[in-house]
Amino acid sequence: MRKITIAIDGFSSCGKSTMAKDLAKTIGYVYVDSGAMYRAVTLYAMEHGCFDGERLDVEKLRGMMNDIRISFQFNPETCKPDTYLNNRKVENLIRSMEVSERVSIVAALDFVRAEMVAQQQAFGKEKGVVMDGRDIGTTVFPDAELKIFLTASPEIRAQRRFDELKAKGQEANFEDILENVKERDYLDQHREVSPLVQAKDAILLDNSNLTIEQQNEWLLEQFKLKIED
Ligand code: C5P
Repeated sequence: MRKITIAIDGFSSCGKSTMAKDLAKTIGYVYVDSGAMYRAVTLYAMEHGCFDGERLDVEKLRGMMNDIRISFQFNPETCKPDTYLNNRKVENLIRSMEVSERVSIVAALDFVRAEMVAQQQAFGKEKGVVMDGRDIGTTVFPDAELKIFLTASPEIRAQRRFDELKAKGQEANFEDILENVKERDYLDQHREVSPLVQAKDAILLDNSNLTIEQQNEWLLEQFKLKIED
């Protein structure tokens, strides 16, 4: 059967990665979490003195870009790919609030985006990939056969993120998370390079009132319709 490219974009904490990962598993495609790559660059910047609080030394980070290697390895226990930064597993570290608070600043930099987009395009060059992010259907794979744009209310998204952090035993404060969700929405939509916008040919889904099973079913149906085209 012919393989296609599937781009899932949308606001932060919408459940894009849950949806993308589950679909990839069901249909035997590779799943790539592009947000994890921006998070890994942010963690690197934090660990190498590029941040003073939330102030970023852009030139310092620019000089370090060639030292940053991001890769993924499938974890059979969680059935998800883990993110590696220079061969070190950083899957949990990149999900911390400290990284969430800084990632949109890093992701707005043109030289960071150029490097990440090139790597993402290389991951998807054989097709058979489900990638989630903000600019997958607009910039990374503008020719993707199936494009989804996912949204949900900020409160629902903050609640999901809160539950996720709590389940992992991490510190979480609902109001802080809600503020972070709104701030990232704003930064992602208003940055100059590849802002978050719905691609013209993307299918919009508001999953505020859908269960994970319902959204998975909906997505599988969209995939089948595309394949039968
Ligand atoms: O998807 P996730 O919330 O983990 O992404 C973290 C951040 O990375 C987003 O808030 C956004 O600023 C940035 N991002 C991006 N482009 C992508 C994926 C993520 O700018 N393709």
